Amino acid sequence: MTIKTIPMGTIGTNCYVIYDDNGTAAIVDCDGRPGPLFRFIEANHLKPTHILLTHGHFDHIGAVPEVKEKYGCIVCAGAKESRVLADPAINSSLYYGTPLSIQPDLLLEDGDTVQVGTMRFQVLFTPGHTEGSICYIVENNIISGDTLFQGSCGRTDLPTGDWNTILQSLKRLKELDGEYLVFPGHGPATTLNTERRYNPFM
Ligand SMILES: [Zn+2]
Repeated sequence: MTIKTIPMGTIGTNCYVIYDDNGTAAIVDCDGRPGPLFRFIEANHLKPTHILLTHGHFDHIGAVPEVKEKYGCIVCAGAKESRVLADPAINSSLYYGTPLSIQPDLLLEDGDTVQVGTMRFQVLFTPGHTEGSICYIVENNIISGDTLFQGSCGRTDLPTGDWNTILQSLKRLKELDGEYLVFPGHGPATTLNTERRYNPFM
């Protein structure tokens, strides 16, 4: 399994292309012009089957319609994120660029798994940054969206955000068994042990 990071969109959101040895791929979040993503997929002969959304903010969904149309991907998101995804005023796309309303093909609950090729993504419900934010765990990797950043965490002052709720979600991540690599929605990758030790919000 390989994880490729492609920062995309107006505020450099991390788009992740996660693919198995057969080239079957999941795309996690995607904003802006998808040219760099398309070029990477074509250069590596990948077959994207799923778009896995961590949450519905404008800077994580901007390229979803184009990517879905090109590859026919199944768009997956947290079940409790439906309102954020659907409403351009709540997902802030109304104020930044093009108003967007996304209807996921598959709504995910805590504990659900999504099989992509030989990879199994486990869903962890981690609300707080938005009401339906989720993380994905695949092998020893956490795709943490805007819940957990290196040394920080996502803001909670946008619609449906809640500070006490994100603290509970961070506690849940902290209490997972074992060590993981962490791939956040913005900024560099980190490890769960580093964040357990140094992240003031954990
Ligand atoms: Zn966000």
